[in-house]
Amino acid sequence: MLKIQNLHVFHGPIEAVHGISLSVGTGQCVALLGPNGAGKTSTISAICGIAQAKGTIALEGSDLAKVSVEDRIGRGIAVSPEGRRIFSNLSVEANLRIGGGIRADRENVQADIERWFETFPILGERRTQPGGTLSGGEQQMLAIARALMSKPKILLLDEPSLGLAPRIVAQVFQMIAKLRTEGMTILLVEQNARQALQISDYGYLLNNGRIQAEGTAAELGGSTDMMAKLTGLG
Ligand code: ATP
Repeated sequence: MLKIQNLHVFHGPIEAVHGISLSVGTGQCVALLGPNGAGKTSTISAICGIAQAKGTIALEGSDLAKVSVEDRIGRGIAVSPEGRRIFSNLSVEANLRIGGGIRADRENVQADIERWFETFPILGERRTQPGGTLSGGEQQMLAIARALMSKPKILLLDEPSLGLAPRIVAQVFQMIAKLRTEGMTILLVEQNARQALQISDYGYLLNNGRIQAEGTAAELGGSTDMMAKLTGLG
């Protein structure tokens, strides 16, 4: 589904990612793990087309180099950004409607909103509340559901567990696991390696802009050395 080869990402003169390669197969959940500053968000930004990048990013075999940010969304890339960035003053329902804003099939947007309210009842119960009045975990779920409203082929999740209490983190990971079970293709960027690997098929460990290790979730999770390295990330 997504294949990245020799990707370099730049912020002005600073090179944040130094030639990484990774792939996410259809229906897979792949974890991109690493500490603060490793280059995880830079990688997501490059996939979305909002960071200057060199190398190849291909979606379903087609190179995205010359594809605009809007057209990348149109081709099926959706992101739930770090820090959620929901619209605080707008209702939960309005946040979801905005997520569906780029769709050509406008007539199906309301039905999809209802579908996500059924799948994630916590959001349905709060449909008329301003997004800003939701708890951190609920806001995270809203950010993910909003991304899903564009009917993506691949969902990029940037640190969904960030700043959440452990019990709430478990709920957010359950939500992601449910999406994976339903067949969604997911690139999960996380510092929380142990929990991310529990719901992932494959993982990459990014450090200082380079892939330091990769393997199936079982390989990475099963290696004591590797888990020490991963969980020592904070
Ligand atoms: P975090 O979990 O802290 O967001 P990360 O793994 O997502 O970490 P990035 O945000 O991709 O890491 O940052 C990678 C490197 O690029 C860091 O050294 C960071 O300081 C630098 N960087 C990121 N964004 C910018 C920017 N807009 N301008 C300059 N440098 C940047």
